[in-house]
Amino acid sequence: MSYVKGLKCRECGRPYPKQPIYVCEYCFGPLEVDYDYVKIKKDLTREAIESRPQNLWRYRELLPIDGEPTDGLHSGFTPLVRAKNLGKALGVKELYIKDDSVSHPTFSFKDRVVAVALSKAKEFGFDTVACASTGNLANSVSAQAAVANLKRYIFIPADLELGKVIGTLIYNPVLVAVEGNYDQVNRLCSEVALKYKWAFVNINIRPFYAEGSKTYGYEIAEQLGWRAPKHIITPCAGGSLITKIWKGLNEFHKLGLIDKVGTRMYAAQATGCAPISTAVKENSDIIKPVKPKTIAKSLAIGNPADGVYAVGVTKESGGWAEDISDDEIVEAIKLLATTEGIFTETAGGVTLGVTRKLIEQGRIPKDESIVVCITGNGLKTQEAVSERIGKPIKIKPNLASFEENVTRR
Ligand SMILES: *Cc1c(COP(=O)(O)O)cnc(C)c1O
Ligand SMILES: [Zn+2]
Repeated sequence: MSYVKGLKCRECGRPYPKQPIYVCEYCFGPLEVDYDYVKIKKDLTREAIESRPQNLWRYRELLPIDGEPTDGLHSGFTPLVRAKNLGKALGVKELYIKDDSVSHPTFSFKDRVVAVALSKAKEFGFDTVACASTGNLANSVSAQAAVANLKRYIFIPADLELGKVIGTLIYNPVLVAVEGNYDQVNRLCSEVALKYKWAFVNINIRPFYAEGSKTYGYEIAEQLGWRAPKHIITPCAGGSLITKIWKGLNEFHKLGLIDKVGTRMYAAQATGCAPISTAVKENSDIIKPVKPKTIAKSLAIGNPADGVYAVGVTKESGGWAEDISDDEIVEAIKLLATTEGIFTETAGGVTLGVTRKLIEQGRIPKDESIVVCITGNGLKTQEAVSERIGKPIKIKPNLASFEENVTRR
């Protein structure tokens, strides 16, 4: 049962058949999945969704596969945490954390996009998958392709965190560490993708892959009791996630699943790699590429593929963008841990730090519902905080030493 009509150019609207292609031959615009919303509206009700297993495929009609899903059957439906302690610390009334730091199986929201990409790659008949990654995508493609018995080629910048490298190698892929930054890795992969018949999840399968991010937005609305929040703060790398959360909420409204979407969307970046935030703050529609220099490596994309659309979403929704320093990222990681017991990676530090800044600036009011997107797990980026937290107190194995060093210290 398929709800997908085909692909469509996002710029000129020209239709294309369902194929592993991603760019319009006429205007070079990106291709997007085109759904039959009339048919979807008949089949997709709140009751139908609620009756299904708690994973991202409960929104199956809005995901771009033709047959039954085959991958990521335990991914998605992560907790939406009502963050009372953190709300108090920030002085706001209704704060939530959408927590993909506990995503199955690789602890980041990339498990969502990969679930969709691999299901689609198999429908297309590929036996090999590949990706260009800033770390989390590498982990997820490597893990889920192992389960799917697909050959896997993973390309990363050579300077990634150890946790991201080990968290990829453990699944035994071909891991290629390129001496260069992500933008150089991505350029190389575009060349490789032309020559080898592989499913590059974020290149030739990208229109399908990217749709998986919508489920992050669907879940926020469902978990809030079928409503959209007033404010959502999203970390941006390539700029896809923020556009897909926005698309997801608006699809839900179009299908009558939620009331109007009055959500303001905010883009969060690190100052060391802030092409999207800079464009928003300069009120420009043009993304100026940058050379990334930040501890938030998962967000270190200097030339974001969906940057222009991410800027557009902040404008259209009445939101904004901000960026913060590496020190502020670490402070925010610690704040989330000590208030909510959630250990996020550097990207999560970016999102929370930017949220704090926007509240302090008065851009986000203190009495409206706010959702902070926590997209990855802190155990993967331990380097970022290891020198900035306490140390264990070492003692001898007896009570005297305990009291001398701990309780009477
Ligand atoms: C990839 C990634 C993002 C950003 O995603 P884009 O869709 O490229 O903007 C955010 N957080 C984490 C942890 C990521 O790995
Ligand atoms: Zn076009």
